[in-house]
Amino acid sequence: LQITNHMPTEDLRALDAAHHLHPFTHGAELKEKGVRIITRARGVYLTDSDGNEILDAMSGLWCVNIGYGRTELAEVAARQMRELPYYNTFFQTTHVPVIALAARLAEIAPEGMDHAFFASSGSEANDTNIRLVRHYWAAMGKPDKQVIVSRKNAYHGSTMGGASLGGMQPMHAQGGLPIPGIVHIDQPYWWGEGGDMDPAEFGLARARQLEQTIEELGEDKVAAFIAEPIQGAGGVIIPPETYWPEIQRICDEHEILLIADEVICGFGRTGEWFGSQAMNIRPDIMTIAKGVTSGYQPVGGSIVRDTVAEVLNAHGEFFHGYTYSGHPVAAAVALENLRIIEEEEVLRHVREVAAPHLARAWARLGEHPMVGDVQSFGMLAGVALTPDKERRAAFASPKGTVGQRCRERCFANGVVMRHVGDRMIVCPPLVITPEEIDTMVDRAWRAIDETF
Ligand code: PLP
Repeated sequence: LQITNHMPTEDLRALDAAHHLHPFTHGAELKEKGVRIITRARGVYLTDSDGNEILDAMSGLWCVNIGYGRTELAEVAARQMRELPYYNTFFQTTHVPVIALAARLAEIAPEGMDHAFFASSGSEANDTNIRLVRHYWAAMGKPDKQVIVSRKNAYHGSTMGGASLGGMQPMHAQGGLPIPGIVHIDQPYWWGEGGDMDPAEFGLARARQLEQTIEELGEDKVAAFIAEPIQGAGGVIIPPETYWPEIQRICDEHEILLIADEVICGFGRTGEWFGSQAMNIRPDIMTIAKGVTSGYQPVGGSIVRDTVAEVLNAHGEFFHGYTYSGHPVAAAVALENLRIIEEEEVLRHVREVAAPHLARAWARLGEHPMVGDVQSFGMLAGVALTPDKERRAAFASPKGTVGQRCRERCFANGVVMRHVGDRMIVCPPLVITPEEIDTMVDRAWRAIDETF
C-alpha cells in the first residue's frame, strides 16, 4: 500500500483512524470531527490535505522558531547522515557535532553555565533534572535534600517524571502520578487568581509560597524549584514583576537549586537567548528542547551551572543517559539552527520588530467585549475569553467549552491558535513579519467574534 500526500483526505483519515493512537487527543471527538492532515509548510504557513493555507500561530508545538522550509537544515542533516549517522556519547566516547553543540550552548548560555547533558526531548531532559539534582545533593553529603517544588498548572513533559513535575490535574488523574517527592505550589496567575490583591502584592504572595513550603518541609529536605520563566502550556502566564526576584532570593537564601524550564522560553522566544535572561533569573539548570533545533530534529537537554557539573564529575558515574543523548544528526541540525538565529539576527528582529508589533496588534483584541487580560511578552501572547472583563469573570459553562469553540473557529478562519481552558494563546515563529502578525490578529479577531 503506497500512502502519499496525493491520496484523498478521506482515505488518509480512515487509515489514521485505523492505526494511529494520537497523543493528547480525545478519541470520540477525533472520530466525529476527523483528523486534520498537514502536508507541507513554508515560512509561517501550513498547507493541509485539502489545499487550505493556515497561519501557524503556534509554531507547531511552540518550537518552529525559524519558521518552516529552511532547506539548509535538511542539507546539514543529509551531510551528517552520510558522514556519521549515529554514534553514542556513553562510556568515554564522543563525536564532533556534540562537542560543537555543547561548546556553542556554553557561549550563548548565561555566565557560568558551560556544561550540557543531552536528551531527545524536554520530558527526558526534565527526567534527567530530577535525578541530577537529587544525585548532586547526595554527592554534596546532603542525601535528604530530595524534594522538588513545582507549580500547579505547570507543564514539564509527559514522562512519569516530567508529568509529575507538571501540575496538570487531568494528567495526574491517570497512570499513578505524581511520583513521590514532588510538591506543587500555586502559579502566579494574577488575572485568574489574584482576587483583590494588586499584581505586585500577588506576585510576592505566590513567590512566598515557595518559602513557606521550604520552611514546612525543612530546608534540608528540598533539592530544587522548577518553573518556566513564563508559563507556556499553562496558558501564557506572565508573572507579575515582583515574582521572579523574590523566587531568586528564596532559592539563594535556602540553598535550593533553581531549574528554569526554557523549553518554550529559550532560543529567542523572549527576545533573548533564554527567558532567564529576559526575567533576570540566575538558574542552576536550564531545561532546553524545541527551539534548539526549531523542531527540525528532536533534541532536549539540561544546561548545567559549572559548580554543579564539577560536583557531578567529581563523584564517579551518573548512571543515566539515553541512546540518543547528543545524536550527531540532531546536534548538527541544532548547530545550523543556532547559526541561522545568530546570522539572521533573529533575536534583534524579535526585540525591535516582531515583539513590539505583536504587542500593539494583540492589544486590539482587548477592544472585543468578550476579551480580557490581553498580554504579550516577546513572541508569546495570551488573552482570556470572559463574560465580564471588569470582574475578571469566568464563564458558567464547563471550563474550556468556550475556548474549544474558539479554537475551532480559528481553524475555520485560517489560523492555528491554542486554547488553555478559556484562554487563547499564540506563539508564532520568531521570523514572522509585521504583515503576517496583522493577518494573524485579524483572523484571531474573526474567530473570537464568531465564537459568541
Ligand atoms: N517543558 C515545557 C515547558 C514544555 O512546554 C514542554 C512541552 O511542551 C516540555 C517540557 C516537554 O517537552 P517534550 O514534549 O519535548 O518532551
